[in-house]
Amino acid sequence: MYLTAPEDLTSLLGEDEPAYRADQLRDWLYRTPVLSVADMTNLPAELRRRLADRHWPFRLEIEQTADDRTTRKWLFRTPDGAAIETVLMGYPKRTTVCISSQVGCAMGCTFCATGQYGFERHLEAGEIVAQVAYANAALRRSPIAGSPDHVTNVVFMGMGEPLANYDRVRESLRRLIETMGMSARSITVSTVGVAPGVRRLAAEPWPVNLAISLHAADDASRSEIVPLNRRYPIDDLVAAAREFFAAKGRRVSIEWTLIAGKNDSDRDAAALAGIAGRMRAHVNVIPLNPTPLSDERPPDPSRVARFVRALRSAGITATERDTRGRDIDAACGQLRLRSARRTELPDAAAAPR
Ligand code: SAH
Ligand code: SF4
Repeated sequence: MYLTAPEDLTSLLGEDEPAYRADQLRDWLYRTPVLSVADMTNLPAELRRRLADRHWPFRLEIEQTADDRTTRKWLFRTPDGAAIETVLMGYPKRTTVCISSQVGCAMGCTFCATGQYGFERHLEAGEIVAQVAYANAALRRSPIAGSPDHVTNVVFMGMGEPLANYDRVRESLRRLIETMGMSARSITVSTVGVAPGVRRLAAEPWPVNLAISLHAADDASRSEIVPLNRRYPIDDLVAAAREFFAAKGRRVSIEWTLIAGKNDSDRDAAALAGIAGRMRAHVNVIPLNPTPLSDERPPDPSRVARFVRALRSAGITATERDTRGRDIDAACGQLRLRSARRTELPDAAAAPR
């Protein structure tokens, strides 16, 4: 039912149902989501039966938990066989869901499991929003101890490049904010650098957060690990990010996945500090989560700490982002890679690293 726009639910119900049914249904889908249509208690039993197999646009295939059950990772499967990864993370004051915007990704970043797999298809707006609704429904049934019992934050940091699926992502933002009632300020769109998409997002009415996955501070080295950089080089991206900041008054953040020997030197930190200064950005440093199809490794913890210190002493606010759920294939794309490896990947790709 999430594939139907919230305004069009009446059409799904048929002419015999009273007009208020669509409102009731909309509430069950967006305001107080439940895992099963059977729990939509104010709908007549006959209607519930009729809607039962249309509730979710996917089914749950794998659920894994980690970090003392404060992290839950789901692999959903759509009727056409596409795999969608979603991760729910509980913290003391927030519950964050990391959602996917595409099945696979066409951007081909070398260190990313999703990129290594390639692009399969875009996700529909309804498939994007349903990941958040599912997380809310799951939390209502079993909350994470010590965390809010509903999703407080959404990050587009799962599979896919959200700004390469602009219109559907835009529609998903509209539904999250206007139908589900989330605050735009609690939503973060992460992009590898689709500069025109950043400009379009800057012109939207909602003050969402923007994260730029930078990973390298000069065009030659960035193009090596982020192929899209050849199309939208760093200066273009910085200009777009500055426009976003000017339009929204929201500080942009830079994501920097630290790769040993690639982008973890003192010089890299100094160059990054320069760019972060120009963007007035905060920096999130994420030690690389190794992926099966690449030899790249994270630096050792002392190097990570030194990198963060170097940024701070250059006057940049920087945090080392925790790598939640390492033991459950945390970097998005990895659960899918593993579940697919059994059947879909060629033998060479399936070889142990
Ligand atoms: N396509 C978007 C959003 C999805 S990736 C983007 O690239 O921003 C979300 C974040 O995870 C990005 O910052 C990306 O660089 C990071 N990431 C991808 N693979 C990773 C890995 N193996 N280890 C650590 N971070 C990774
Ligand atoms: Fe796509 Fe982001 Fe992975 Fe790059 S890092 S391949 S843009 S999902």
